[in-house]
Amino acid sequence: MTSQEIRQQFLDYFKSKNHLIVPSAPIVLKDDPTLMFSNSGMTQFKDYFLGYKEPKAPRIADTQKCLRVSGKHNDLDDVGRDTYHHTMFEMLGNWSFGDYFKKDAIDFAWELLTEVYGIPKENLYVTIFEGDATENLERDQDAYNFWKSHISEDRIINGNKKDNFWEMGESGPCGPCSEIHVDLRTPEEKAKVSGLELVNNDHPQVVEVWNLVFMEFNRKADKSLEKLPQQHVDTGMGFERLCMALQGKSSNYDTDVFTPLIAKVEELSGKKYTGVLEDEKDIAIRVVVDHIRAVSFAIADGQLPSNGGAGYVIRRILRRGISYSYRFLDMKEPFLFELVSVLQNQMGKFFPELEKQGKLVTEVIKSEEESFLRTIERGLIRLDSIIKETQEKGGKILAGDKIFELYDTYGFPADLSRIIAEEKQLTIDEEGFEKHMYIRIEDSRIGSAFKVFDWVVLEEKPENFVGYDQIEAETYITRYRKVENK
Ligand code: ATP
Ligand code: MG
Ligand code: MG
Ligand code: MG
Repeated sequence: MTSQEIRQQFLDYFKSKNHLIVPSAPIVLKDDPTLMFSNSGMTQFKDYFLGYKEPKAPRIADTQKCLRVSGKHNDLDDVGRDTYHHTMFEMLGNWSFGDYFKKDAIDFAWELLTEVYGIPKENLYVTIFEGDATENLERDQDAYNFWKSHISEDRIINGNKKDNFWEMGESGPCGPCSEIHVDLRTPEEKAKVSGLELVNNDHPQVVEVWNLVFMEFNRKADKSLEKLPQQHVDTGMGFERLCMALQGKSSNYDTDVFTPLIAKVEELSGKKYTGVLEDEKDIAIRVVVDHIRAVSFAIADGQLPSNGGAGYVIRRILRRGISYSYRFLDMKEPFLFELVSVLQNQMGKFFPELEKQGKLVTEVIKSEEESFLRTIERGLIRLDSIIKETQEKGGKILAGDKIFELYDTYGFPADLSRIIAEEKQLTIDEEGFEKHMYIRIEDSRIGSAFKVFDWVVLEEKPENFVGYDQIEAETYITRYRKVENK
């Protein structure tokens, strides 16, 4: 089954269950001051759950373009290093706004996966919320009972608050969730370790595919819970992971969502993708084919790369892709822009914005590539002289302020400095670097603005809210504090 057919079957199934099929909302949010990008399917329905708007229909289903590179959901560091986290991915979802609840949500998910898609039942596990005494939250016994009619009890796993209780923010709608995990290992691997032990444990072949959220409560400002007058269902299934399961692959990158892009990178770079997890060239190829999707969709939805806010996030993602291909694929000339037409061929039918904006997307990426490659070349010359000066004095550590200056004024990624230093058996004065980074972050006043939940409450919104840098700030400040306390 092709990925296009898999997507269509999802939508057809829920249409047959009386769901209204709607298009994906843009990946870039223009009218939500609390969030820059859609990071889950329910983003566009937030106002329905909060009661600010009447839902278009009591049952809705769609596929949503998501981006998880900032705030509570930041998967950037995993991308390329594992086989199932992306920056941009599609989240298939079905919703009930005060209509059906746990039983139907569970029955639908089970029927679709096992009967329509034909996933063998013995490859599936489900989790339910185990309860949390300190927060006065009960175990989700209803979900347990509904699952029991489909799956043997030893495959229903208790999950904690972190994995199995969903909250929109510090206050507002919340409730237990129940997730479906699929075990794609070979029979020999399965004989060695039970899949039950691998659920939610970062195993690349025992992965979470679908999250069913049951919005049952409202958390009030004083933190107490009240039952919502109407209860809702919000589900999200990772499309690329589903394709991996249905196409019998062991990596999302081996599905037809990615293989045409990988083939093009191989053609342009002359490097072969071998699918090895730790191989630098393979990591770089995964990074490139992942990032080109994020950047293309963002530009097609109107977010050009720039120096601030959402545009800065997009620029950083693109530059990360360029850095990886420069270092590990020996790509010293622009080439990412040539992947856009491949992406268009593959996804343009379902996402017409890619077709419509293809020319703009291609041109913007090409010019970003040209200018960043110049930055890299200039930075390399400067780095080279820093290295020489250090070595001449017999030093082994590159001064933090100089590496910071490279980053700050040349836009030269610190990671790249680190890699090059390592190759020459040198290190970077990380404390010195972080100290400068910290000062810069404090200067720009983004250091105080940490985001923990999906949405920050409007009144508490920091003046100049920028997602990606906050995370960077958070990391640096935590690290810096650690250094200070030492
Ligand atoms: P994980 O634990 O694997 O990081 P999650 O619990 O953070 O996933 P949810 O917020 O529950 O994910 O999102 C619903 C579904 O979206 C997941 O079950 C998964 O299939 C998919 N998904 C989540 N994050 C990603 C990602 N970065 N790339 C691809 N698919 C994802
Ligand atoms: Mg996650
Ligand atoms: Mg999870
Ligand atoms: Mg989850």
